[in-house]
Amino acid sequence: MRISVIGTGYVGIVSGACFAETGHHCICVDVDAAKVARINSGVAPIHENGLDQILARHVGTRLSATTDLAKAVHDSEITFIAVGTPFDGQHIDLSFIRAAARQIGAALKAKAGWHTVVVKSTVVPGTTDDVVRAELESASGKRAGIDFGVGMNPEFLTEGTAVEDFMRPDRIVIGGNEERTVAAQREIYAGFASTPTLVTNNKTAEMIKYTSNSVLATMISFSNEIGNLCSTLGGVDVADVMRGVHLARYFSTPMPDGSRVRAGISSFLWAGCGYGGSCLPKDTKALSAHGASRGAAMPLLDAVIETNVSQPQRMLDLLNRHFRSLSGVRVVLLGLAFKEDTDDMRESPAITLARLLLERGADVSGYDPVARETARAALPKDVRLHATLAEAVQAADALLLVTRWSEFQRLPALLGDMVKPPLLLDGRRVIEPSSVPRYEGIGR
Ligand code: NAD
Repeated sequence: MRISVIGTGYVGIVSGACFAETGHHCICVDVDAAKVARINSGVAPIHENGLDQILARHVGTRLSATTDLAKAVHDSEITFIAVGTPFDGQHIDLSFIRAAARQIGAALKAKAGWHTVVVKSTVVPGTTDDVVRAELESASGKRAGIDFGVGMNPEFLTEGTAVEDFMRPDRIVIGGNEERTVAAQREIYAGFASTPTLVTNNKTAEMIKYTSNSVLATMISFSNEIGNLCSTLGGVDVADVMRGVHLARYFSTPMPDGSRVRAGISSFLWAGCGYGGSCLPKDTKALSAHGASRGAAMPLLDAVIETNVSQPQRMLDLLNRHFRSLSGVRVVLLGLAFKEDTDDMRESPAITLARLLLERGADVSGYDPVARETARAALPKDVRLHATLAEAVQAADALLLVTRWSEFQRLPALLGDMVKPPLLLDGRRVIEPSSVPRYEGIGR
């Protein structure tokens, strides 16, 4: 099919590239001319494993980028909206969604024939049917369901494994209120015949996405609450506790040969320094605010959010076990991106940690194998960045491991060679405590 994708951020460019990879023709649209130029030169605007290779295969043939939204809509049969949906402090901010829908509507005014518009961005239930449909109708002068279709196809990819997630999805959710809109999306995903596909209405599709993210956030905050308790008990390590929990058949299914198949969900039952990123923090807040506006308060979700907000402070409490005052202490944040294998700094715990440490007078620096440009832009300017892990380790009184980059498995070797090794505060519980000279871990 001929597809246009509005927004070339983490979701838009991965979706566009993968649509091309599966045989469709895709035009990616962004207001940011620099991103468009990068894509057209075959270079991904973000760090994502495998993305550059897909661009190299298809840019100039099945894949192109432009700032001309109207032309992209004219030259395609279906348009996906993949613009940002931030949280404005009170509610979900739908201004990018509204603007994109208005621009698509204006383009549809001058386009003959049926066109399908699909919301891929994460939006609170009711947005597709109420806000997007209304903007499209008023800008086009046409009617949804008669002249064009409006669908909802939430995206479940995870940054760091986004291409793999898109090409081998665990599910496809297709929202639509009439057959033509559903049929167009089925055709898009025809190459994924073996993937469980749920066809539903738009509002349910929207709700599936929020519920999926909220359950993951809940498990993380629950694990952190348990870890925080373990930190105070003495003689209990949350890592051992969670290993015992993971052995339940719900989390690791026993196989006939005696082996166990671990459920992926168990990776969310692990204490750490909190979740970040462009999805879980804003989506939990948006859903809770939406619930409150509908008279359905969500106290459990509110507690999940609160636990996460206070988790970086727990890391400082652990540092204080070793340094009575943090004034002048050289603390190096290891890993700055919100998770491994991405350069995305949005809502990274490293940002909050840097701010809290600076407030207490620490000398703060950081190292990330990939997130350098994005970290520079997101961190307070007083935070220096190191070029290598070895340099970072040498510059530290305390290392604070924030992100699970695989490179940090080199820490035991690096620290073992030092005469005066720094403390390692493991905020992700990825290093074996006895493998480094001075260890502190969350939940011990
Ligand atoms: P992003 O901020 O990285 O990218 C959004 C892009 O849209 C930007 O490049 C921006 O310039 C562009 N844009 C905004 N308005 C535009 C317009 N009118 N015309 C053309 N381009 C426009 O956002 P993202 O992380 O890709 O997320 C997009 C949506 O997908 C959000 O709703 C998010 O919640 C959801 N989502 C994100 C992820 C993720 O891992 N990042 C996963 C699943 C779902």
